[in-house]
Amino acid sequence: MKITMIDEEKIQYNKQVKRLEVIKKEIEELESDSTVQKYLKLLNTKKFLESNNEQMYITIKHNEYRNCNHIWINNRSYCIKCRLKNILAQYEYVDYYGLSFDEKICMDYILYNSLGNDRSISLNVNCDIALANEIYDIIAKSNENKSDEEICAYFKKILVDKTNPLSLSRKK
Ligand SMILES: [Zn+2]
Repeated sequence: MKITMIDEEKIQYNKQVKRLEVIKKEIEELESDSTVQKYLKLLNTKKFLESNNEQMYITIKHNEYRNCNHIWINNRSYCIKCRLKNILAQYEYVDYYGLSFDEKICMDYILYNSLGNDRSISLNVNCDIALANEIYDIIAKSNENKSDEEICAYFKKILVDKTNPLSLSRKK
């Protein structure tokens, strides 16, 4: 008798059904093992905590953005205090799925919240974000009770010192 394509497919199918049955039995046996049970329990807890921590992190970040009297730099595209990136002010076209995890958090925030209040300050300054963060950290460490206006003045002064080749060579 000639074996057709359909017959071959049926044979293959039946083989796979049997193989699946064997695997299911093996899994059942493993699941009754206490070490495996412990592993599965830990895995579930890990998943739960990871997802929960992620949600908490997002909430914390959004609260930080909400409670910040922003100090904007780079044409109001970055706040040096809470580090909110106004991505819409940075790029004309934004590929949401191309954003990093932290950028997505910023994007989700700026899409649904107003940016700033009467107490926000816009600094007429353009500089590298890593440098801006570094300078702000230096200021924040030693000037906890200073006003935003004073912080802005320090920021500009340090930025000039750090980016001016004349002041750098003077220190050498
Ligand atoms: Zn801010």
